[in-house]
Amino acid sequence: MSVFNAYMTLSGAVDADVRRDERMLRHTSYRIGGPAALFASVHSYPALVRTIQVLEDEGVDWVILGKGSNLLVSDKGYDGCVIVLDGEFSRTSLGEDGTLTVGAGAVLSKVVNEAMKAGLSGLEPCVGIPGTVGGALSMNAGTRREWIGSVVRDVVVLRPGKGLHRYEASDIEWGYRFTSIPTSEIILEATLELAPSTREAIAADMEERLRRRRESQPFGVPSCGSVFRNPPDQSVGALIESCGLKGQREGGAQISEEHANFIVNLGGATAADVITLIGRAHEAVRSAYGIDLACEVKLLGFGA
Ligand SMILES: Cc1cc2nc3c(=O)[nH]c(=O)nc-3n(C[C@H](O)[C@H](O)[C@H](O)COP(=O)(O)OP(=O)(O)OC[C@H]3O[C@@H](n4cnc5c(N)ncnc54)[C@H](O)[C@@H]3O)c2cc1C
Repeated sequence: MSVFNAYMTLSGAVDADVRRDERMLRHTSYRIGGPAALFASVHSYPALVRTIQVLEDEGVDWVILGKGSNLLVSDKGYDGCVIVLDGEFSRTSLGEDGTLTVGAGAVLSKVVNEAMKAGLSGLEPCVGIPGTVGGALSMNAGTRREWIGSVVRDVVVLRPGKGLHRYEASDIEWGYRFTSIPTSEIILEATLELAPSTREAIAADMEERLRRRRESQPFGVPSCGSVFRNPPDQSVGALIESCGLKGQREGGAQISEEHANFIVNLGGATAADVITLIGRAHEAVRSAYGIDLACEVKLLGFGA
């Protein structure tokens, strides 16, 4: 495998910014992570296809990144290429029939606000969730019972090496932090079907949701949101709290005092610090309740 060859082939030859040894702490909401061997911010569909082709030819692993708000990158970094969808992938367009077509690279909060201003309801459960549309669809972001997938009319993906594919809503299963779209596919665009409402009603709902968020979650301190998925009918925050772990620290990381399912970076936390706290919480809940908690946060660069 040759990261160097891939860099030399791509650099200046595709509509993308390609960099080497990019520090991932600049691209994750945790502000944690060692360098990615390659980092490509691609601006167009041909550039994306060509970038992947070159990486595959050179045997370089790759991964798609949104805003890194649900991602923990290891301290040693990632020995592959991190691809970010930018430029034409960030477009949004409002249809006359109450639909909103959004590129995967669009910032979710901007899309939520655009819908509100257009008097279109359905994205309120996504208010306050950081990240991109692609990340939100990949994670089926939302609350435990409401999620972005429920307003999706169709999704266009790139199947690397095969081409484009359009999923209709009925082709996709959505669940709590789950979509049946395979992780090998790159989400490029989605059309959302929203319901007419008034700006005032949507804004009031969003404000109420933001208020509840501010009351129950740590604010203004780096994190990745919820670390574990809630088990059915249980609150993982309450489970971890009942094990006495709220406020526990490891290096610069802490199990949040506001919400025990958040691990926050108090400053200078390493990925190893966060992993230690994840392991501690996982083990405590397993031994107290026999529940094997599953991580919601995605890990990058921890493989052999
Ligand atoms: C303070 C805070 C609060 C949060 N609150 C919530 C919440 O209430 N509800 C919730 O659901 N989440 C929440 N999150 C988690 C996170 O914001 C969401 O999961 C978000 O949707 C991730 O988007 P992203 O663009 O940052 O994705 P990333 O973190 O960059 O990526 C997440 C995953 O999606 C994949 N991915 C990204 N883009 C694409 C694409 N175009 N095609 C295919 N795969 C892709 C990545 O490979 C990765 O596996 C919170 C996070 C923080 C920091």
